[in-house]
Amino acid sequence: AQQKDCAETVRRSADALLSVINDILDFSKIEAGKLAIESLDFDLRLVMEAVNEMLAPNAEDKQLDLILEYPPRLPREFVGDAGRIRQVVTNLVGNAVKFTPAGQILATVDCESQDGEKATVRVSVQDNGPGIPADKMASVFEKFIQGDSSTTRRHGGTGLGLAICKQLIELMGGSIGVNSQLGGGSTLRLTLPPQPG
Ligand code: ADP
Repeated sequence: AQQKDCAETVRRSADALLSVINDILDFSKIEAGKLAIESLDFDLRLVMEAVNEMLAPNAEDKQLDLILEYPPRLPREFVGDAGRIRQVVTNLVGNAVKFTPAGQILATVDCESQDGEKATVRVSVQDNGPGIPADKMASVFEKFIQGDSSTTRRHGGTGLGLAICKQLIELMGGSIGVNSQLGGGSTLRLTLPPQPG
C-alpha cells in the first residue's frame, strides 16, 4: 500500500511537471513566432467528446457532472487545427474542473452568427465555481497571472494556461472571452475562426 502511494505521488508530480514544461515550450514557440497552425478537416463533435472523456475521471473524483451539449442541427465538419483547438478546450474544461468544488460543468457548442452557408461557432464552458473577481477578469489572459496568491498553493498551475489559449486562438483567427461573477461561477467563451468559403 505504501509503494502504491509513492507511485501515485511520483505520477502526479510527473504529470504536473510535464504540464509546466509543455506550457513553457508552447509559450516560447509562440513568442519566437515559430508556432505553425494546421489547416485540416476535422470533426468538432469528436474533439469535444475526446476532451470530456479525458477529463471525466478528474470530474468524477470531485463528483462533478461534466455535460456536453452539441445540438444536432450544428455542423460538425470544420477546417482548422484540431489538436490546438482540443488543447484550448481542454484547458478551459480543466480549469472549470480544477476550480469548481461541487456542481456541474457544462460545455456547449452553439452558433454565434450565420452568414449564408457559413456559421461562426462558439464553444462555451460554464461552471458554478468560485468565479473571478471583477478586477482580475481582464488580466487572467495575461501570462503568469492567477486569480489570487493562494491559487498555486491550492490548485497548482502556472498562470500560463489562459495566456496560451488566447494566443493560440488569436493565431487561428478566433477569440476568447470570459464572463464571471465572484461567487457566481464563470463562463469562458471561445469563438472559433470563421471557416474558409
Ligand atoms: P492556472 O490554471 O495555471 O492558474 P490559467 O492561465 O489557466 O492559470 O488561469 C489563470 C487564472 O484564472 C487562474 O489562476 C484562476 O484564478 C482564474 N480562472 C481560470 N478559470 C477559472 C474558472 N473556471 N473559475 C475560477 N477561476 C478561474
